[in-house]
Amino acid sequence: MKAFQYHTHGEPPALRTVPDPEPGPGQVLLRVDAAGVCHSDEVIMHQPADRLWFPLPLTLGHEAVGTVAALGEGASGVSVGQQVAVYGARGCGTCRSCALGRENYCPHTERLGILSPGLGGPGAIAEYLLVEDTRYLVPLDGLDPVRSAPLTDAGLTPYHAVKRVLHQLVPGSTAVAIGVGGLGHMGIQLLRALSPATQVLALDIAEEKLELARSCGAHHALRSDEHAARAVRALTDGLGADVVLDFVGSDVTLKAAARMVAKEGEVTVVGLGGGRLGMAAGRVPYGVTSSVPYWGTLPELTEVLALARSGVLDVHVETFGLEEAPLAYERLRAGKINGRAVILPNG
Ligand code: NAD
Ligand code: ZN
Ligand code: ZN
Repeated sequence: MKAFQYHTHGEPPALRTVPDPEPGPGQVLLRVDAAGVCHSDEVIMHQPADRLWFPLPLTLGHEAVGTVAALGEGASGVSVGQQVAVYGARGCGTCRSCALGRENYCPHTERLGILSPGLGGPGAIAEYLLVEDTRYLVPLDGLDPVRSAPLTDAGLTPYHAVKRVLHQLVPGSTAVAIGVGGLGHMGIQLLRALSPATQVLALDIAEEKLELARSCGAHHALRSDEHAARAVRALTDGLGADVVLDFVGSDVTLKAAARMVAKEGEVTVVGLGGGRLGMAAGRVPYGVTSSVPYWGTLPELTEVLALARSGVLDVHVETFGLEEAPLAYERLRAGKINGRAVILPNG
């Protein structure tokens, strides 16, 4: 089959032919309908060679929707022809975190060398994807496959991040989303759908993204520059934002986050921009907490899909054929994707 692979360190990924995967006992083979393109793939491809935690080549893609093509011996719970979303995080499957569906926080992955699809293991930007266990599959039940693929990460990650800070988002409160890309445009909608916060503000460096933020329900969309923190304070009677979700995570955005967050507020760092947030007196207002969440849980993926079925999520997508995957990554790198790029490997 054809698969889009990061094959040689420092070189651009390319479409290559690899052996057709076959499902072993308990496994499921999916024909991939749609695979989202996440900025984390770019982060991976910019890692120094000695920091990569898996061998190359790597078939990219960790946001997937597919149709069950074959079941390995003993695999049950889904049937051939059924369309499913794939929960992407892989844990040991037996520890307390995994038992709670929190495989994204399994403490044993590094020690056991467990690799998630597209993040070390073979990913979804390919004609077929092998899934280790049916527990990772959530039936789409009528959802649009192309718009659902991004829900497995660009939807799930901000969903998890927002749920963790809902107690801060009371009526009268203000939330800020920094970075209105794949995750951020979902983050704004999730803040609106899940919380009674009075104001949702969005920051980005590109005018089209500010337009997208407004269409996603942001009350104000502001340029992310040296005046942004002052602008957020002006919109909050000088108090600052109760929650800042940073979907960029660079030094510049974290510095701005520290300046715009309110006393007792929360800075959630989702973006992998490699920046630092100083957590010390004088660096952030008193009472501020910060967290670095990773992805979301399996139960939360079912919740995100349920929310999508209720019709309140509008996933903006730009679609590409498998042959056009290089273009999708080029456009992502250039900041040109409005919403999420989605590859249709069999489309
Ligand atoms: P994306 O490329 O789709 O969006 C990034 C957005 O940030 C763009 O709209 C861009 O214009 C904007 N931006 C860039 N610099 C900015 C600045 N200084 N101020 C404000 N906006 C700025 O990326 P994405 O796929 O949405 O991913 C966002 C980040 O989240 C990436 O770092 C990715 O690696 C990370 N991520 C983390 C997790 C996690 O579990 N923690 C999961 C998925 C993705
Ligand atoms: Zn991702
Ligand atoms: Zn575990």
